[in-house]
Amino acid sequence: MEPNNFDVIIIGAGSIGSPTALYLAKKGLSVLVIDQFPSVGQGSSKRAIGGIRATHSDPAKIRLCLRSIEIFSSWREIYGDDIDWFKGGYTFVAYREQEEKSLQKLVQTQKQFGLNIDWLDKKQLLEVAPDLNKKDLIGGTYSPDDGSASPLLATHAFYNQAQKFGAKFHFSENIESIMVEHGKICGVKTDKETYHANIVINAAGPWANQIGRLVGIDIPVTPDSHEAAITESVAHFLNPMIVDIRPYQGSSNFYFYQHSTGQIIFCITPSPNIWGFSVEETSDFLPLVAKRMIDVMPRLRNLRVRRTWRGLYPMTPDGNPILGWSNEVKGFFLSVGTCGQGFMLGPGMGELISRMITNTTLGNDEEILKILSPYRDFSGHEFLK
Ligand SMILES: Cc1cc2nc3c(=O)[nH]c(=O)nc-3n(C[C@H](O)[C@H](O)[C@H](O)COP(=O)(O)OP(=O)(O)OC[C@H]3O[C@@H](n4cnc5c(N)ncnc54)[C@H](O)[C@@H]3O)c2cc1C
Repeated sequence: MEPNNFDVIIIGAGSIGSPTALYLAKKGLSVLVIDQFPSVGQGSSKRAIGGIRATHSDPAKIRLCLRSIEIFSSWREIYGDDIDWFKGGYTFVAYREQEEKSLQKLVQTQKQFGLNIDWLDKKQLLEVAPDLNKKDLIGGTYSPDDGSASPLLATHAFYNQAQKFGAKFHFSENIESIMVEHGKICGVKTDKETYHANIVINAAGPWANQIGRLVGIDIPVTPDSHEAAITESVAHFLNPMIVDIRPYQGSSNFYFYQHSTGQIIFCITPSPNIWGFSVEETSDFLPLVAKRMIDVMPRLRNLRVRRTWRGLYPMTPDGNPILGWSNEVKGFFLSVGTCGQGFMLGPGMGELISRMITNTTLGNDEEILKILSPYRDFSGHEFLK
């Protein structure tokens, strides 16, 4: 094979592109991943806080993340790398009747899809997370099989393994155009080289729309700015990720957990959303999130924050990813719009893409692909997006 000819070119070496490269290379395809940044995971991936859950409100994401959890949790055993996987579970807390009702209703759906999740009353929940503020606490969901891992370590682990199976990664190269002949993909041009392939996967995260425009497609992915922070490291006291979905002035949900290395890592969803590519930290974030966190867990009040950062969710209008072939351009594949869940979706989506490209899809795949189709009407709303 000519050095610049590949079966598949993946645009983006992030949470999606890296595992996808691994699973395609494992199936024997020649794969090239191209990224504009100097190394793997330098887009949104390294800005994720590392939460991994299958507790979604939608069957497609539930199924994909159940598979991702199997991959993350067995990674060390199978491949040997420590990716900081910690099975601490997730807890969505209810301090008001609204959240109690909606979360309880959701548990029924989640159970139908095989999730290990239960509704815990106040007493039971305090056994799982004893430091939660007891005042007005009604209860919450608890899904013990969810957890966390390090996005940088995990993305590097996918990258290293993908290379072992023969995938090539070219960094510091910007995709400038995608070559199409008679409606079919035939390669890409970067600022350095021309590469040929009949399949190009758009895994460009928040830049997915720009990549789509190179072949004349308007993909509904918009960068949505979110801030996060990490504290100093302290002795272990908290197992689950705590999620509070109550809306407040200036924010909707927020979530935090204690990483396996002792730091508390946290993030908040601004309300209204902050659209755009800016990743400059703001002075609004810490006062907003700290107040809410201390309210839910007073014990956190003495922790010192070490660093804040800001990154981009690749948002879709309905909160679900977009996964599938383009109808307009043959050979152009979309794996984009993973919103605030691209890290946890990555391995599950990567495996599914490898099955689609090698025509080896499984029974449940069709249902997932229907829900995540690029041609759905996007009017739905994923409750836990
Ligand atoms: C603060 C914060 C907290 C988060 N927490 C979590 C969490 O706990 N759990 C979770 O699952 N998710 C979380 N996320 C979301 C997660 O980070 C994203 O969903 C995920 O990283 C998207 O992965 P991706 O591979 O699609 O995009 P990216 O990681 O951004 O990768 C896309 C890559 O495409 C490359 N690219 C784009 N255009 C070009 C071009 N023209 N030429 C070459 N390369 C190009 C970019 O350089 C980039 O590296 C969080 C996000 C933020 C901001």
